[in-house]
Amino acid sequence: MREDEKGYLKEWSNIHSDVEIDYTDQIFNDETVELAKGYNGVVLLQTQPYSRTSLQKLQDFGITKISVRNVGLDGFDFKDLRDLGFSLTNVPVYSPNAIAEHTTSLMLRLLRRVPEFDKKFDNADFRWFPTIGEEINGKTVGIIGTGHIGSVVARIMMAMGAKVVAYDIKPNPFLENLGIYVNSVDEVLKQADILTLHTPLAKKDVHMIDTAAIAKMKDGVIFINAARGGLVDTDALIAGLDSGKIGGAGLDVLESENDVFQKKFTSIDDVKDPQFKALINRDNVIITPHTAFYTTTAVHNMIFDSLTDNLNMLEGKTPKYPVDITVD
Ligand code: NAD
Repeated sequence: MREDEKGYLKEWSNIHSDVEIDYTDQIFNDETVELAKGYNGVVLLQTQPYSRTSLQKLQDFGITKISVRNVGLDGFDFKDLRDLGFSLTNVPVYSPNAIAEHTTSLMLRLLRRVPEFDKKFDNADFRWFPTIGEEINGKTVGIIGTGHIGSVVARIMMAMGAKVVAYDIKPNPFLENLGIYVNSVDEVLKQADILTLHTPLAKKDVHMIDTAAIAKMKDGVIFINAARGGLVDTDALIAGLDSGKIGGAGLDVLESENDVFQKKFTSIDDVKDPQFKALINRDNVIITPHTAFYTTTAVHNMIFDSLTDNLNMLEGKTPKYPVDITVD
């Protein structure tokens, strides 16, 4: 548990004074699972996979109720959870605006060439020419996935004067009257000046954006991914940036992020991940270390909703956010 979460934990604890809560700053794995012994439920948050061995140990301790404080469930193998008789909750909607606003900021920072202006500023160069920017107003913004987050992005983009083209395997009924939907991912790729992904990482969608998909995009497209790194074939993205096919990339998630994000290196040169190295030091690439979600509103909701749902399950009540683990 991070320092910034502890205040909200205390707040929740004050309301539920009959519940004993302990926490650890360590991640959940085959060794640290021992810390859960003696408790009734666990609330977890991490990007690393949840191993079958650690889940088996939890079950041995009589714990079968897991609540995760985030949305993403790709760290779980649902078959393991089913086999071992677990119930799972997540927090699917802690603050879609946090990610949607971050997505917008990545677009704006690329369009207004902020990395280049920052470099110029550091060199006491306050001339604006030739670093001319572009506007979201009048652009066509392609959105793949219009659930909680993508739908907020769609509304922000429309409010900023963009034309939105969107594709979703299950169109959002709240957006259907806006006339934004097209019939395929390909149609979005073809039309978008700015493309942003907001789908989960289903197995079938690994590398949804590969060399073939990039070839279908407009020349100079601005590409944003604040969803999941695995949706993108990073080598294909790097090739697209090298060739100029992709005009800029804003990446809050990376395929290899577990090797880099949430770690402190002595210097950027100490990061060995080849994909990360190939992406940084480009004026047209902005990487943020999976921080899109990270606002006070989001963290409050992640703590409150996950703890309340774990308690709901333990008390035999219906949780607010049960996860259907019967479908892989
Ligand atoms: P959501 O479930 O509300 O919406 C996802 C939408 O994608 C759904 O409408 C679904 O029908 C659609 N979809 C699924 N597969 C699709 C496909 N192949 N093509 C088109 N549409 C498809 O999810 P959400 O809360 O909006 O989250 C979206 C993504 O954002 C997830 O990958 C999530 O993990 C990620 N996320 C990132 C951060 C961050 O900090 N960067 C934080 C939260 C969530």
